[in-house]
Amino acid sequence: MGTSYRVTVPATSSSDESLLRAAVRAELELVDGLMSTYRPDSELSRLNRHRSSEPFHLSPPTFAVLAAARAASAATGGAFDVTVAPLVNAWGFGPAGATVPPSEELVASLLRDSGWAKLLLDPAAGTARKAEPRLQCDLSAIAKGYAVDRISAALEELGFSDHLVEVGGELRARGSNPEGQSWRVGIERPDTSGRLVQRILRIRDVAVATSGDYRNFREAGGERYSHVIDPRTGRPASSLVASATVLDASAIRADAFATALLVLGEDEGLALAERENLAVLLIVRNGENALRETTSSRFRATMSLGSP
Ligand code: FAD
Repeated sequence: MGTSYRVTVPATSSSDESLLRAAVRAELELVDGLMSTYRPDSELSRLNRHRSSEPFHLSPPTFAVLAAARAASAATGGAFDVTVAPLVNAWGFGPAGATVPPSEELVASLLRDSGWAKLLLDPAAGTARKAEPRLQCDLSAIAKGYAVDRISAALEELGFSDHLVEVGGELRARGSNPEGQSWRVGIERPDTSGRLVQRILRIRDVAVATSGDYRNFREAGGERYSHVIDPRTGRPASSLVASATVLDASAIRADAFATALLVLGEDEGLALAERENLAVLLIVRNGENALRETTSSRFRATMSLGSP
């Protein structure tokens, strides 16, 4: 998935370890093989090449993630948009990243051909249909969370009920750490200069996802472009939120909402968090080199309990 992963469990026998390694690898390969826009042979890439309004049959995992992505698109008023793929590429991110920023005309035409409501899913048939044949989907902001949830469930099934799973910064903690305490995870300081920790969270039985604008960006003509696109304008998100962290029961939901919060910015983002009862920590740029934190009421309540 173009990123790293880490799985932590209490010390175990070598035969259990090889089972565990095989299970983790199988889940990662399944998600990458089905949902990568970077692999021309993935099911998602085949759906994106299907330039037709005829139904396209999907495997249950891809259908489930597209359905979760469509639900997140609706819940966030389109700040998360599963059909953002052509705009991601046009702004120089994704597999076919352009090297120069797109013209206003191109952005307008890509916006006309996208929009999550044009993706129609039929759960009974297990198919997707495009109301606009040029529609293309991107699951990069949600499929890592799905992989984390799957790996966590697989570990549970193998009897590893205490674990910490992390894929590309999205993670899920179950049970206790090897010292019998809550797991401790660091939220990075949104800063390109190094990897400083802004805050340590003590967590148990919860997923945590963070999206940021500080590591994956491009610069052109003196301007800095985030890899997160605002689907309402077709341009890179430009809110003052430098990083958004969401805690939720599922990593897939936390992952999608974290991306939406970067798009929405502080006021609209916190309103969404209150509406959806999400535990959210936003790190907001506050003038030159200064940052401040803002949190939702659910975040404050869960943290004051010591562990969510
Ligand atoms: P997030 O905020 O979680 O996601 C941002 C990404 O989501 C953007 O890069 C864009 O693709 C998309 N996006 C942007 N705006 C929106 C929006 N408004 N709504 C919805 N989505 C949006 N990267 C590689 O370089 N090589 C690979 O081979 C590769 N393979 C991958 C395979 C899979 C299955 C997945 C899920 C990702 C893969 N990636 C690959 C992508 C890489 O992991 C991304 O950099 C990463 O997913 C972005 O995650 P993030 O946590 O930084 O940001």
